[in-house]
Amino acid sequence: MPLSTRPVVDLNRCEGKAACVQVCPWQVFDVRALTTQERGPLTLGGRLRSLLHSGHQAIATRADQCHGCGRCVAECPEGAIRLEKIPG
Ligand code: SF4
Repeated sequence: MPLSTRPVVDLNRCEGKAACVQVCPWQVFDVRALTTQERGPLTLGGRLRSLLHSGHQAIATRADQCHGCGRCVAECPEGAIRLEKIPG
């Protein structure tokens, strides 16, 4: 049963290398082009970095399946993922 944690991707750091996709045993992540809404909070630096990898970045599409194992945090080459506890 999933624990009360979820991964949070810092899109200003993510370079879409998909290590999280490869290591997550519960298929929480997809790497895809961000929607306009998802690109909204990016800093100027984040937008420029995003252009270097065709706008593809990691999205925690199935965050509710996170079991809190920490593999994505340990393996992300950009240090772009942290785990957040869900209140309640
Ligand atoms: S902590 Fe584990 S289960 Fe949760 S998203 Fe990362 S790799 Fe997947």
